[in-house]
Amino acid sequence: MDPSTPHPDLAGLNGKRLAVVGSGPAGMSAAYFARLLGFSVTIYEKLPVMGGILRVGIPSYRLPRKVIEAEFEGLSNMGIDLRPNTEIGKNFSLNALRNEYDYVFLGTGVHASIKLGIPQEDQSHRVISGLTLLNKTAFGETVDLGKRVTVIGGGNTAIDSARTALRLGCEVTIIYRRSQCEMPAHFEEVQEAREEGVQFRFLAAPQKIVLDTDQTIKKLVCCRMELGPADESGRRRPIKKEGAFFDIKTYSIICAFVEKPDLVFFKAALKTKNDCIVVKDNLSTPPQKGLQPQVFAGGDIIDIAHTVVHAVASGKKAAIAMDCHRNGANFDEVLEKIVIGDGPAISFSAYHGWKSVNPVTQNHRWVLGSENIVFDYFKKASRVQPVIQDTDTRKQSFNPYRNTFDPEAAGREALRCMHCGRCTECDNCLIFCPDMSVLVKGRNRFGYAIDYDYCKGCGICFTECPRHAITMIDEDIPLKEA
Ligand SMILES: Cc1cc2nc3c(=O)[nH]c(=O)nc-3n(C[C@H](O)[C@H](O)[C@H](O)COP(=O)(O)OP(=O)(O)OC[C@H]3O[C@@H](n4cnc5c(N)ncnc54)[C@H](O)[C@@H]3O)c2cc1C
Ligand code: SF4
Ligand code: SF4
Repeated sequence: MDPSTPHPDLAGLNGKRLAVVGSGPAGMSAAYFARLLGFSVTIYEKLPVMGGILRVGIPSYRLPRKVIEAEFEGLSNMGIDLRPNTEIGKNFSLNALRNEYDYVFLGTGVHASIKLGIPQEDQSHRVISGLTLLNKTAFGETVDLGKRVTVIGGGNTAIDSARTALRLGCEVTIIYRRSQCEMPAHFEEVQEAREEGVQFRFLAAPQKIVLDTDQTIKKLVCCRMELGPADESGRRRPIKKEGAFFDIKTYSIICAFVEKPDLVFFKAALKTKNDCIVVKDNLSTPPQKGLQPQVFAGGDIIDIAHTVVHAVASGKKAAIAMDCHRNGANFDEVLEKIVIGDGPAISFSAYHGWKSVNPVTQNHRWVLGSENIVFDYFKKASRVQPVIQDTDTRKQSFNPYRNTFDPEAAGREALRCMHCGRCTECDNCLIFCPDMSVLVKGRNRFGYAIDYDYCKGCGICFTECPRHAITMIDEDIPLKEA
């Protein structure tokens, strides 16, 4: 949607004020949904730019800056007050926010890097964290890396750091202590990094950095690893092979493994466990000394998976929970009504009571599997493939190398939707019913009615509905309980 278009569903203000701390996907989502529910929202961000990791972590060749800017233009046009360059804990305390606002949402993410814990790592300016490299590059600063770079880690930060260093003109090797199968980075990203020329050394871990007299790096000593039994993460544990050392000639080392949240400003006020803020099921923080229960938290600072979609989902959930608190509703009971399938996804339209575009009543708890679809009725249609630049071109710059769909391609992709579980008035049931018991509802009315006086319950309509839009229930079960 064009960000300058007024939001069609913007509610009037409900009189409550929300302060969102952190402008990453968790904060953006909490602000967006809370504003739709009528809260007056301010987002505080310590950096000069908004967007969190989307803006200063994920490189622009993967996520174009104009996409994030358009999102914030949209939020601003909804009346959300954006305050960059404002660090909570420094410019304002958490308590000051609590006094000024009715609700606070914390979405400050994980930005503090964990050290390698090996000799000499603090002695050279060429040992840096992946997030530092990505941050500086995002702000257009020059980073002195030298020609050969070694990246340590196997997650998204490692791959993004490696591909960033490659675009800065370096030769890059990633070392990872497990094998490729255990890498947490997206498979596609690993493949693309390899195509661009990033080298990988699996089953290797850093042991020691050897410096020259001028504090530049002479080499990185690594140890070969082997995989033992699975650890608590479910992946096979890497174990050192005794005495199996080897050297890597490198000029800089980028430590791109686990990051942790910087909770220093919140630790005194909020309960934490394993470097995460403790939250209840509704994402509110348990009441602490002098703290009201209206402080909520989401995204990477709570104990959920560190992905954009989980961060966005937590912001939505917190906004709904705040609204329930505001109007005295029981969140658990509300959740029961709006959860999709077995959860954890929740429907904002169901909470808001928005009417579905499709006139057929939808049961959010009912999510179809592919086994319910009668594929014989559908033509095979391959995914529309995005256009990807060749590797030589794409590693020359930070420009996006993967095109998004143009309107025509987006239309073609949308046509692949099978409308699972939603009637499209294809008439198949009407044609197949041997007893003419499927009746068209009539002009200007959507759908069909079943003539139960004639229907013998043979189930042909149910079996032949291509998209499983018909439910058959036992006659003895009252409709409400079915
Ligand atoms: C390099 C990298 C690549 C990734 N790639 C992917 C990917 O491809 N797909 C995916 O799903 N996930 C990816 N992730 C994970 C994903 O980006 C995070 O899970 C997500 O951004 C978390 O969102 P958040 O809102 O909790 O925090 P963040 O995005 O970290 O945003 C937090 C914001 O809070 C601000 N802040 C912190 N402290 C304060 C304070 N005291 N006062 C005011 N503001 C403050 C920070 O400056 C920051 O802007 C990646 C992560 C990294 C690091
Ligand atoms: S067969 Fe299914 S989708 Fe087609 S009209 Fe009947 S109920 Fe609707
Ligand atoms: S169950 Fe059989 S008789 Fe009844 S509407 Fe469906 S196809 Fe017709």
